[in-house]
Amino acid sequence: MTHDSATIESERHVFQADVARLLHLMVHSIYSERDIFLRELISNAADACEKLRYEANSDPSLLNDGESFAIRVILDKEAGTLTVEDNGVGMSREDLTGALGTIANSGTRLFLEKVAASDKGAAELIGQFGIGFYSTFMVADRVVVETRRAGEGSAWRWSSDGKGEFEIARLDPESAPTHGSRVILHLNEDSKAYLEPAKIESIVAEHSSAVATPIDLLEAPTAEPKRVSEGAALWAKSKSDIAEEQYKEFYQELSGQFDSPALTVHWRAEGRAEYNVLAFVPGSRPFDLFDPARKGRIKLYSRRVLISRDSDLLPGYLRFVRAVVDSPDLPLNVSREMVQESALFAAIKKGVTKRLLQEIGKLAETDSEKFLAIWKNFGPVLKEGLYEDPERRDVLLKMARFATTADADGKRSLAEYVAAMRPNQTAIYYLVGEGAERIAASPQLEGFRARGIDVLLLSDPVDAFWVQTAVGYEGKPFKSATQGASDIKAVDLLDKTTKPEEAAAALPDFIARAKEALASVVEDVRISDRLSQSAACLVAPEFGPDLRLQQILAAHGQSSIEMKPVLEVNPAHPLLVALEKLSKGSAPELFEDAVWLIFDEARLLDGALPKDAAAFAARLTRILSKALGA
Ligand code: ADP
Ligand code: MG
Repeated sequence: MTHDSATIESERHVFQADVARLLHLMVHSIYSERDIFLRELISNAADACEKLRYEANSDPSLLNDGESFAIRVILDKEAGTLTVEDNGVGMSREDLTGALGTIANSGTRLFLEKVAASDKGAAELIGQFGIGFYSTFMVADRVVVETRRAGEGSAWRWSSDGKGEFEIARLDPESAPTHGSRVILHLNEDSKAYLEPAKIESIVAEHSSAVATPIDLLEAPTAEPKRVSEGAALWAKSKSDIAEEQYKEFYQELSGQFDSPALTVHWRAEGRAEYNVLAFVPGSRPFDLFDPARKGRIKLYSRRVLISRDSDLLPGYLRFVRAVVDSPDLPLNVSREMVQESALFAAIKKGVTKRLLQEIGKLAETDSEKFLAIWKNFGPVLKEGLYEDPERRDVLLKMARFATTADADGKRSLAEYVAAMRPNQTAIYYLVGEGAERIAASPQLEGFRARGIDVLLLSDPVDAFWVQTAVGYEGKPFKSATQGASDIKAVDLLDKTTKPEEAAAALPDFIARAKEALASVVEDVRISDRLSQSAACLVAPEFGPDLRLQQILAAHGQSSIEMKPVLEVNPAHPLLVALEKLSKGSAPELFEDAVWLIFDEARLLDGALPKDAAAFAARLTRILSKALGA
């Protein structure tokens, strides 16, 4: 297989930076999983066939007469080469430098970071990051690509030893395919096992059997081709003819991931819009789930012709779903934008969204373990739907699961919450903030705990947004545990022997003087029902936004009007009893220091900083000095 004599012009190019590191990493850290190079080559070949099938729709002359798409794996023991050949769209000169010379552009750096941080093998990440082609250098000393873009006269020969440079030369059109690519791997010493047909067959069966293009194996360049994979479109088959294993393989092929789908949904919709859908909820989180630039991951077909591989068919809060949608009614020869604007597209979007939520919801009812695994990975994304899609809010609220003060595992549904409400409890209480453990330790929750009232602990960034718009559940309103006068007094304490109302007087002098001292920073000072151990806490005024909500919104660049909080104090706490006495006495400086320290301490507990760090430090020092007799 020497084509050097056939090449005419030749030029050298240098790979982009990072490539050397990437190659080193691939060869050294994923050596044990090097079989995947074949999956990557076959997947690229199948993509190329899909692209040409699409282009040939508007220009049938791109195909030869009676030609059908196939991928060939050709073994050559004498030359020590393994070739993957396709009659797909091929590559132009620009495609070659662009696609094979830059390696997934932005993906590379991310990949390297991810591998460094991950406990998974790098192999699991390769397909996801669009660097599949480079996995060939795990098994080859030299990789040669001979290719011709469909419809073009010139053919090219790309070659590289993967050490930082590649070469592109013009290829004699006579010895080149009419269209398509031939990727020739000169296998390295350690990889000769890939010349064994049985080995190749088993790798294809394991990793590529769900590819929608047939695969042939040739034991030698002149041998009879043997079909090793049928290349049927799985989604077009009937459900009863498909084994679970086939779904799994198809999912892995579609997603480039090696896990199993957490949920597989396959159906045919009939009626005004006709389409087939095969959809998967992945078993693990894609790396870029929260990347704002992440595109939709839905493949759209029209009668098995791929129209778009990254369509935004589903709403953003279902962006983790991987799916194939095939509708005979989707127009083939219009732009992607026009497809996305068509009425049919809208109808499919609605139908698929509804069905997927139905299926996920059903799982929540029938198999909580499976459902919780999905919720754990994708709950924070699904919750975006609570404010983005009011039409589906009820369905989403029904499936939502929460960590609460009574259930730290995050398995509580709102239905369970409502069923366990205490007599006289009127609202579904929540607390938003960062980190479930941290919010669980908030002093504002003491009074709720003492009354056996459960509180939702909302620690996902998205929570701050949906609670603002959610009206309630089963007629019970949502209410922040740190907002307004708490109306939990009507709920009995669990321990009936403590009666805080009688345990302490109402601290009349303290409250009056503290209000004066803190007039510039608080709206009010009052006795709290929320506290049972701590001395004080801050809450939002009745009609102002929740305090933590203000913090989170500010952190996300969304400013809201900052309102003065209310300082609530615990009359049963010895500190307050002492301060009530002090407020009658003649040590106004000490009283003022103490009140300010209580206020700043409450801020600290809320994750904020003291209002004025220097004044805080001075007060603390004065009080400490006094206490220590300094
Ligand atoms: P990805 O497939 O995720 O884009 P790869 O590293 O596998 O990443 O391939 C890089 C690019 O090289 C592909 O996107 C495609 O443009 C091009 N390419 C690779 N193999 C082929 C092929 N057999 N035919 C046409 N183009 C190909
Ligand atoms: Mg690829």
